[in-house]
Amino acid sequence: MANIKKNDTVRILAGKDKGKSGKVLRVLVKEDKVIIENVNVYKKHQKKGPNREAGIVDKAMPIHISNVRPICPKCTQPTSFRRKELGDGKRVRYCRKCGETIA
Ligand SMILES: [Zn+2]
Repeated sequence: MANIKKNDTVRILAGKDKGKSGKVLRVLVKEDKVIIENVNVYKKHQKKGPNREAGIVDKAMPIHISNVRPICPKCTQPTSFRRKELGDGKRVRYCRKCGETIA
């Protein structure tokens, strides 16, 4: 597990948006996928519903977690986050590259 959470910034490693980075909007835990703002966007046909017009909308599709890498807010490098336990039993994430604790 990559320890990615909502609002993390990640770099995309594969697919049509390879090299881009963006903010995680949702983590689909069961599927090991994430939805990233403005990344992997496809045109979707939408049917007319009670609160929406019919038409074509842009929809960000989920990307498998193995195809993204979190970017550390401290050292700004693509990295991975690990977890460690603090003395009081709390678990925090930290950057594998610079060792800084990540919120
Ligand atoms: Zn770092």
